[in-house]
Amino acid sequence: MKHTYYYVGIVATLIFIFFNFVACGAQFYKLSLEDDISHELIGSNDPNSEYYGIHTLHGWGANIPMHYQSDPTISQDQLRQIQAGMKTWEFVTGKKLFQYDGVHANTTGDSFPDLYSSLKDQINGNYFDENWNKTGKSDQVLATTIWTNNRDQSLITACDIRYNISKYILGDSLVISSTPDKEVVDLQSLATHELGHLLGLSHVDESYDPNSIMKATVFIGEGLISRKVSALDIARIQKLYGCEGAACDIDALVEKIEYNYEMNHEDFSLISSN
Ligand SMILES: [Zn+2]
Repeated sequence: MKHTYYYVGIVATLIFIFFNFVACGAQFYKLSLEDDISHELIGSNDPNSEYYGIHTLHGWGANIPMHYQSDPTISQDQLRQIQAGMKTWEFVTGKKLFQYDGVHANTTGDSFPDLYSSLKDQINGNYFDENWNKTGKSDQVLATTIWTNNRDQSLITACDIRYNISKYILGDSLVISSTPDKEVVDLQSLATHELGHLLGLSHVDESYDPNSIMKATVFIGEGLISRKVSALDIARIQKLYGCEGAACDIDALVEKIEYNYEMNHEDFSLISSN
């Protein structure tokens, strides 16, 4: 099937801006996430707009669950962490948003000649790039989410997430350690943010919603996680996908999220998504 790409672009650039401080023996870095977007919905940058923080009005539309595959080098733990991020978004909509189709055989991020070429294969992939330079992004970019839209830009038609493994160790930051060459980045936290982009959300300002998973700054390092979505994140994702059942009670959801955070560090893979 031939496919025409109208808008390609995007993304989640996580640019490291400063060494913040040193504590608990681990170095903490605060990163700035800076979008590199060729198309955004009008109003997505305006906190007074009803489209604030949304880049594609109807997300994947009727094409949910969206099908995805993963890099064959992914570990079971890493896959589980990315899927925990997916379950977070499913938990707060009450809908099945993602369908796993297994690994994309023989295809890592390094298989593609550049960043955007991975969109041409009709497979929505989660890829790891050891040769990150060829994406054209700086070493300080942790991951990039790229997508295509339909002609009127109301729907997402294809998407890939490219993860930088040349400078970072992606995994459970509560468990794994940094090395002299590579800093730990909590994969569930990073994936939850990138998956927000994949579903249709863009960044929101920290002053607008300091608890948002979609805010443009993030701490990385051993022991640092930010896996929670905020009440405003939930309201925003429900604008795109609606809600079902218990997910429609946002106040109750937020309470469950806080409870879950206390109990198991927001690992949604451990709780029922009903
Ligand atoms: Zn981002």
